[in-house]
Amino acid sequence: MKQFFFQAVLLAGGAAIVGYFLWKAGKALAIYFRDRRDARRAAAEAEVLRQEREARNRARLDNGCDHRFGETLGGFPPFACRRCGLEQTKPTGPCDHVWRLDTESAPGAVCEKCGKRYKPIVSEQTKL
Ligand SMILES: [Zn+2]
Ligand SMILES: [Zn+2]
Repeated sequence: MKQFFFQAVLLAGGAAIVGYFLWKAGKALAIYFRDRRDARRAAAEAEVLRQEREARNRARLDNGCDHRFGETLGGFPPFACRRCGLEQTKPTGPCDHVWRLDTESAPGAVCEKCGKRYKPIVSEQTKL
C-alpha cells in the first residue's frame, strides 16, 4: 500500500511537470503566433500608409511642370526640380520648400517660401 502511494505521488509529480512544460510551450507558441499576426498587420498598415504617401506625392508633383531633378549647376540641390523648385519627395517639416538659386551667396539655393538656405556639399573631386 505504501509503495502504491509512493508511485502515485511520483506519477502525479511527473504529470505535473509534463503538464507544466506543455503549458509553457503552448503559451510560447500562442505568443509566437500573436506576434506574427501583429507583425503582418503592422506591415500591411505600413504598406497602406506608404501607398497613400506616394499618391499624395504624385498629386503634389502634378503641377504641370516637366520636372528636372538631379541638376546641381550653381549649387542647386539635386533632390529638387530645377524648373519649379519642388523637392522630389515632400520634405519633413512645415515647409514644402520651393528652391531657387541663391543669388546672394552662390553657389547654393534658397527656399522662396521660408528662406531656408541650401549649400552644396563640396565633394573631394571639386576641392582638388
Ligand atoms: Zn518641376
Ligand atoms: Zn521652405
